[in-house]
Amino acid sequence: GATLGVLGGGQLGRMFAHAAQSMGYFTAVLDQDATSPAGLVSHQHIRTGYEDPQGLTELASVCAAVTTEFENVPAAALNQLAASLPVSPAGSAVAIAQDRAAEKAHFVKCGVPCAPYAVIETPEQLAAVNDALLPGILKTSRMGYDGKGQIRVKTRAELIAGWDELGRVACVLEKMLPLAHECSVIVARGRDGTIVNLPVQRNLHRDGILAVTEVYAGNLPATQVEQAITAAKSVAIGLDYVGVLCVEFFVLDNEQLVVNEIAPRPHNSGHYSQNALDVSQFELQVRCMTNLPLVQPRQHSATIMLNLLGDLWFKDGGDTPVAPAWDQILALPGCHLHLYGKVDAKRARKMGHLNITAATPEQVRATALKAAEILGIPAF
Ligand code: ATP
Ligand code: MG
Ligand code: MG
Repeated sequence: GATLGVLGGGQLGRMFAHAAQSMGYFTAVLDQDATSPAGLVSHQHIRTGYEDPQGLTELASVCAAVTTEFENVPAAALNQLAASLPVSPAGSAVAIAQDRAAEKAHFVKCGVPCAPYAVIETPEQLAAVNDALLPGILKTSRMGYDGKGQIRVKTRAELIAGWDELGRVACVLEKMLPLAHECSVIVARGRDGTIVNLPVQRNLHRDGILAVTEVYAGNLPATQVEQAITAAKSVAIGLDYVGVLCVEFFVLDNEQLVVNEIAPRPHNSGHYSQNALDVSQFELQVRCMTNLPLVQPRQHSATIMLNLLGDLWFKDGGDTPVAPAWDQILALPGCHLHLYGKVDAKRARKMGHLNITAATPEQVRATALKAAEILGIPAF
């Protein structure tokens, strides 16, 4: 079998490797960390950074195609690899997803509404910010994830202090919007332009981190569902994207749909696809890389995903991590436990997820709420 390569050794790379291996491929991971979740399950683990041209050359020499699981991989690394083998997504698309200012400009170009915003790179731009953007969220343009690199600012004084606190790096200020719901859509687009989508996911974030994803009929208003799928596809087509792309949205109190951001890879909000769809987001990633046919995934179960953060390992109040009572969870019907093999549990670290499936929305909610109670996750 051929070898498929992935830049980044986190849980997304690990689940990509599982999907690739189940389809007969070998996998190679490039990641510095000796105990990276994907490195542990791959046939080859090249332990260098993304900036090391030699590591990249070694990866290229063993692979038939390469993808990324880490959105902040330097576009230069993808471009170097693309000189000798197929790389999806392309460096040009990843570069846009890495920069909130470029990302928002892309949304505007595609005619997809996003939150009102201003780019702040200089003291002059800071001084020129319109009062209508306050209260707002100041976000670093680059490298933010899980709500990191973001400060909520109510007044101009807080905005000025916030930009100082973020180190006066390039930022965007977004108007704080009244959110009714959050949702996301994952699309997969092939080299020939074929595009398929996962069902729209309804997402609940806590402390800036995804906590719960619910996917079943009636979880979102039908008009927003259609709009979100159409908008996600136009964002992907506008990038001439090849691979798996997640588009996150806000649904406002007035029911307006607003795009938040994109991730150029499989996404935490798509993990339910492993157990509730007949094709997972990771299998779609493999199919995109290898030019295999893309089929529209079919949902066979109502589903809820609960993220398992490291906090759950410290419920007894001590400093030594204690794994939750998996035997009680696995005694519930339709619980699929996914753990990432991370060696040390830490608060706010993504340790795994629990996919719950059932025949009906009522059943899946009942089981998910019971699992949440056992785990000490607040009800939703
Ligand atoms: P991810 O880990 O998804 O990449 P991130 O760090 O890039 O997260 P965002 O998606 O920008 O962060 O924001 C995190 C969360 O903060 C959103 O899911 C939403 O709940 C809230 N949020 C962000 N921007 C706004 C806004 N303009 N108005 C209201 N809430 C917002
Ligand atoms: Mg983000
Ligand atoms: Mg986000």
